[in-house]
Amino acid sequence: MLKVNNLNVHYGGIHALRGVSIDVQQGEIVTIIGSNGAGKSSLLNAISGMVKYQGDVLYEERPLPKQAHKVVKSGVCQVPEGRIIFANLTVHENLKMGAYLRNDTKGINEDFEKVYNLFPRLKEREKQIAGTLSGGEQQMLAMGRGLMSNPNLIMLDEPSLGLAPLLINTIFEIIVEIKQMGKTLLLVEQNAFKALSVADKAYVLEQGVITASGSAKELLADSTIQEAYLGKK
Ligand code: ATP
Repeated sequence: MLKVNNLNVHYGGIHALRGVSIDVQQGEIVTIIGSNGAGKSSLLNAISGMVKYQGDVLYEERPLPKQAHKVVKSGVCQVPEGRIIFANLTVHENLKMGAYLRNDTKGINEDFEKVYNLFPRLKEREKQIAGTLSGGEQQMLAMGRGLMSNPNLIMLDEPSLGLAPLLINTIFEIIVEIKQMGKTLLLVEQNAFKALSVADKAYVLEQGVITASGSAKELLADSTIQEAYLGKK
């Protein structure tokens, strides 16, 4: 469904991604793991049209447009790191913003229901001002807003960042539920154990280069990965 071939990103003199290639199949959860500054966000930002790149990004065998709003229209959506939400709008209004490129009222209403079923906490708080939500609730809202664009491919950038362990478990359970809804997920995470536990396939990104890839099961069992990313010796 998504093929990235030989992607390069430069920020001035910094060569942040160096010939990155990944392949995401329909219905999979694919995770990119790597430490701080490895280039994980840059990869998602390039795919979603937020950052300039050289190389090819093919979506359903056609080049994905390079402008962010056209990427969303194509069915690819990114939930950015840091849960960027509209702090002064209500939960419901934030979700509505996620559907701003759509005009299929019936579909939008169905997706509101799906999102509220997936995140009952958001339903309870639909009239609350988003800036007053807890960190975990804001993460749910950012994910829900992404789903409101009705994407086929949803890219999540560090969804577990800064959350308490119990909430991290909830977020990963919801990630699996999103897959079960028929969506494809590209998941960037520093929490490698959790990410590999839910993913089908994984890539390891180090200093802008893919250094390992395979099924998530294989990488979980790999002693080098265990030492570097799973805190095992
Ligand atoms: P983290 O897990 O800490 O978010 P990351 O793996 O997502 O890190 P990126 O944010 O993609 O890594 O950053 C990759 C490299 O590119 C880093 O060295 C970073 O400092 C640099 N970088 C990212 N964005 C910019 C920018 N807008 N201008 C200059 N350098 C940047």
